Amino acid sequence: MPAAQKSVIVIGAGLGGLSAAISLAQEGYSVTIHEKNDKIGGKLNVLKEQGYTFDLGPSILTLPAIFERLFERSGKKMSDYFTIRSLRPHWRNFFQDGKVVDLDPDPAVMAAEARKVGEDPANVERFLKYSADLYDLVSEGYFEQGLDTSKEFGNFYGPWKFPKFDLFRTMHGGVARFLKTRHMRDIFDYFIKYVGSSAYRAPAFMNCMSTIQFRYDLWYVEGGLYNIALGLKRLIEELGITVHLNSEIKEIRKEGETVTGIVTADGAFHAADILVSNVEVIPAYEKLLGEDKSFMKSLDRYEPACSGLVLDLGLDIQYPQLAHHNFFFSEHQKEHFKTVFQKHQLPQDPTIYLVAASKTDPTVAPAGCDCLKILPHIPYIDDKHPLTREDYLVFKDRIIDKLERMGLTDLRKHIVYEHVWTPLDIRERYNSNKGSIYGVVSDRFKNLAFKAPKQSTKYPNLFFVGGSVNPGGGMPMVILCGQNVCKKIVAWDRK
Ligand SMILES: Cc1cc2nc3c(=O)[nH]c(=O)nc-3n(C[C@H](O)[C@H](O)[C@H](O)COP(=O)(O)OP(=O)(O)OC[C@H]3O[C@@H](n4cnc5c(N)ncnc54)[C@H](O)[C@@H]3O)c2cc1C
Repeated sequence: MPAAQKSVIVIGAGLGGLSAAISLAQEGYSVTIHEKNDKIGGKLNVLKEQGYTFDLGPSILTLPAIFERLFERSGKKMSDYFTIRSLRPHWRNFFQDGKVVDLDPDPAVMAAEARKVGEDPANVERFLKYSADLYDLVSEGYFEQGLDTSKEFGNFYGPWKFPKFDLFRTMHGGVARFLKTRHMRDIFDYFIKYVGSSAYRAPAFMNCMSTIQFRYDLWYVEGGLYNIALGLKRLIEELGITVHLNSEIKEIRKEGETVTGIVTADGAFHAADILVSNVEVIPAYEKLLGEDKSFMKSLDRYEPACSGLVLDLGLDIQYPQLAHHNFFFSEHQKEHFKTVFQKHQLPQDPTIYLVAASKTDPTVAPAGCDCLKILPHIPYIDDKHPLTREDYLVFKDRIIDKLERMGLTDLRKHIVYEHVWTPLDIRERYNSNKGSIYGVVSDRFKNLAFKAPKQSTKYPNLFFVGGSVNPGGGMPMVILCGQNVCKKIVAWDRK
């Protein structure tokens, strides 16, 4: 049957689902999206209150060229839909010994920053060359070809390229090979934040992430990152894709090895030739398909990435020392990683990410005020011993204490608006696996950083898109995943 006559239902309007829907519509499929929430974007979300605009989800845009492809394939330009600009510095890093280091892609600026903590700038250059080689390697196959299985890897890379992945080191091992100071090691280890994992457990090739920022820059979307979702909404309308909001899917129907359609919360059945689930692999198999325990056990290696405490604060002042993006480091970052990713406990002294978009975008806060989004990474929900909202609120106070100690004097007194999301809220809102914010964890020992395959191993006409399948979480990766799942569907369909 030609593609034009085939129907696809996409379950979920996160960025992965939207990218798959757009790409499939561009290939001539008839596409419908069902989204449980009242707006599209999934974790790319926004909160506007009392003159403050907060990015509730992502706040850093990288690899915008991957987003551009969605527009180009319809003969359009992304810049007609939303405006992006690069940021300097990329991040500001605050340490408890009072040292402050900026990350900047300009080699001369970066060299001066490295010298501030006694790091030889040549070490940073050597590390970035190592990172660039890893990026080129990972990108040519894993990213661009959408590789999923070990067979696909073997065929693409062949035996000669495998050693180049630096497979016998962890990400931290790769960092420590080149960088000698504790400050620089902590900073480059923390690039693992892009996928919510531990630098001491992730494989060394995850060091490719520094190149994503140093070669391709770090971007902001004017007015806030939710404007990406609004731009995609326009493109979706232009492509004639039907979107049903407030439409939660309760069941995926199957007959033998074929999925036949979905059942919405009102009990209605909607048939489709092909289903694409933007619901993560584990909740989809467990809750929508009702798979048995032995099958679910086979998915154990796809452990969730971390969750987060999302704290949005509207202030009545500005803190001049802040940049747009800031990190407040743990005194013992190895301990921080171990507590979150191995002990699964709330850390005593976490590394904290803090965004102050008001530093470069006056539209997101009243004049003279900062709006802060604060995001410490914390463990995903342990269903056997779940924490309560009160437990998380005690942790929130520890975060504010730490920020006050590290220079945001009297922060508490200057809060005029506060909003807190715990892992419980994140799971409730997006149905993410145990409240994960980046899909599946990247762990050398559990899964070598590979996520689930995009095509179901049980039902050939069921596909997955988003942070729980390859290449994993983060906005550009799930957009790429949507484009690659489309290629997979087209190739399978034409067989
Ligand atoms: C606080 C936070 C900060 C982040 N920061 C960054 C950052 O700075 N940069 C970056 O690149 N990435 C960041 N990320 C990660 C990034 O947001 C995600 O990796 C990406 O947006 C996930 O997209 P997705 O398509 O995989 O899934 P989601 O966005 O989770 O989309 C899944 C969709 O499916 C819907 N759904 C679930 N179940 C059902 C059902 N039964 N029926 C119908 N619909 C359903 C959900 O409501 C949701 O809309 C951040 C995430 C969070 C939460």
